[in-house]
Amino acid sequence: MTNTAASSSTTRAASPKSAPQRALEKLGLVRSIDLALHLPMRYEDETRVVAIGTLRDGDVAQVEGVVIDCHVQIRARRQLVVRIHDGRDDLVLRFLHFYPSHQKSLAVGRRVRVRGEVRGGFLGLEMVHPSFKAVDEGISLPALPTALTPVYPTSAQLPQAYLRKAIDAALTRADLSEQLPPEVLTMPLWDLRAALDYLHHPAPSVSLAALEDRSHPAWLRLKFDELLAQQLSQLQAKLDREKQRAPRFALHRGGLHERLLAALPFALTAAQRRVGDEIAADLERATPMNRLLQGDVGSGKTVVAALAAAIAIGNGWQCALMAPTEILAEQHLRKLVGWLEPLGITVAWLTGSRKGKARQTMLAQIESGEAMLVVGTHAVIQEQVRFAKLGLAIIDEQHRFGVQQRLALRDKLVDAAAPTKLEPHLLMMSATPIPRTLAMTLFADLDISTIDELPPGRTPVVTKLFADSKRDAVIARIRDEVEQRRQVYWVCPLVEESEHVDLQNATATHQHLSEALSGHKVGLLHGRMPAAEKAAVMALFGGGQMAVLVSTTVIEVGVDVPNASLMVIEHAERFGLSQLHQLRGRVGRGSTASVCVLMYSTPLSDTAKARLKAMLDTADGFEIARRDLEIRGPGEFFGARQSGAPLLRFADLALDEPLVRQARVVAQRLLADHPRAARAHLARWLGERTEYLKA
Ligand code: ADP
Ligand code: MG
Repeated sequence: MTNTAASSSTTRAASPKSAPQRALEKLGLVRSIDLALHLPMRYEDETRVVAIGTLRDGDVAQVEGVVIDCHVQIRARRQLVVRIHDGRDDLVLRFLHFYPSHQKSLAVGRRVRVRGEVRGGFLGLEMVHPSFKAVDEGISLPALPTALTPVYPTSAQLPQAYLRKAIDAALTRADLSEQLPPEVLTMPLWDLRAALDYLHHPAPSVSLAALEDRSHPAWLRLKFDELLAQQLSQLQAKLDREKQRAPRFALHRGGLHERLLAALPFALTAAQRRVGDEIAADLERATPMNRLLQGDVGSGKTVVAALAAAIAIGNGWQCALMAPTEILAEQHLRKLVGWLEPLGITVAWLTGSRKGKARQTMLAQIESGEAMLVVGTHAVIQEQVRFAKLGLAIIDEQHRFGVQQRLALRDKLVDAAAPTKLEPHLLMMSATPIPRTLAMTLFADLDISTIDELPPGRTPVVTKLFADSKRDAVIARIRDEVEQRRQVYWVCPLVEESEHVDLQNATATHQHLSEALSGHKVGLLHGRMPAAEKAAVMALFGGGQMAVLVSTTVIEVGVDVPNASLMVIEHAERFGLSQLHQLRGRVGRGSTASVCVLMYSTPLSDTAKARLKAMLDTADGFEIARRDLEIRGPGEFFGARQSGAPLLRFADLALDEPLVRQARVVAQRLLADHPRAARAHLARWLGERTEYLKA
């Protein structure tokens, strides 16, 4: 009979069948297995009824009784008021929205079972809009369910009752047979069917705590299977890559690599030498390198990249180096030109803003192979760019590129290198270290090198918090700094909704600082300036002719001006943690003691507090990354949220590291000894999403 008021009204309004169906698809619930894996967010206990006399205000409860009164009341608004009696006590049911069908279902004499929240009302205890089942006099109500009732995440177009039916049908239909050979397992696991039956319809005696914190063995099976699918797809990607062929680069005595090393104005740190060796070893192999070079801001990744480029170029192959912003690309260009042109290497420069004849010349030089090193933004691998012999691609600050962009990048690289029929080696660099569990899961396909040491002579940056109201004190500090001929960054916040407002903030601050610091040059830099103007400002600041640089976050990554000793971040509470860490890394690059001032305005949200606290607590990039993961979760950590696909639905990388390890071992065994089972598992779990997980 009628179930809930809400569901009956929805079914009535919906055009036959299609709306909920579409809503299912929108939620990604297409295959039976998708539905079977759509798990409840909570449960309702409909397995018991209680006596009306035991109800208390605020209880959520289920009772049964006979309707003894049903009438429409016209008080402030029309409403249906029903009184039921369970043999001892009465309860009022109140419906503010109702249809004639309600009055029929709840006619005097009918037996009802109702469930809802109890409230103290005008006429004693009552339930407003309870869900109910009603039957004719003399007929008994259906038996109580023996399991808890699942409540699923759903959308407005998809009534809970419809979803429940769809899921129950799918559970019966779906092939949930055991696909994993028992001999590969490293621990006892619940059967998948048992686990799903359990999670959809747990017994009333279950510990709700174990279901909620996902520690129940039924949950473990799901998490394990999910992690296993992820490990399998990563390992498979790695195996696929190993079938590809790449050019082999040897280290020649007296070659470009050696000459560059000799020409550097400093000695490499031990960590730089170690990662350099790891990269060189990869480049010697005939399979394409897929390596992430991670090292905290200022740890000296650029020179390691230059040395890798020198190996490729020394072997007669081209190298492309890409950075996420023009400013950063230009800075790389200056460094690399400074290091490599004296050694006779032609460097080309490609960005989106480079147009016309200059661009044509560059493209021709790249295609002929005259330009051995190409530096730029993504423009480097756009369609028109054809390399004569691309052997190595280096991507700086790769965490800034979204997941989809990274996927596209690989394809483009292979295209750009098409004439050689070989795949280029790939080196990615990041100052945001990947936390260990993520490295084992999402990036299991990557080899990782870590620079865990800063060049000598750096003094740690002191971090200070200032309330926004102390702006004058901050400006006084800036004056001290510039009077000692040191330089200052002032970063304005990003208000994502409006670039326009960002700009206003930055412009106003620029004006204010220019007045307050008269006699010193204060510059302005923002994302909407033409590239040439940006470059001019950066050149002045980099050359020391500009004392203060007011900027939006365009300077966030990689900018290197060693004489800058003070970083002021306005509205620090609006920045992400890794962004703050990156910004702080712009100072402390020389030998002078440096300070990072985080200005904030109240009220602070809890996450903002956690971020600022982390900045005060530690300067260690790994610890920052770990806390960032804790505060934001892995989805946001990699900007995957924008792409809409959640990375992991069941497992939690922060908590499930032991399971990740098990899944890794089992994935290796499966791929080695049971490839068919491996494929079946991937198909069950990922369907069409396999591409995504390879990112
Ligand atoms: P990041 O790892 O953040 O990209 P950079 O490559 O920009 O760091 O290096 C930071 C600064 O340290 C640069 O000025 C660079 O020239 C300098 N540097 C790099 N390696 C060394 C070294 N071994 N000794 C001294 N200075 C170094
Ligand atoms: Mg860098």
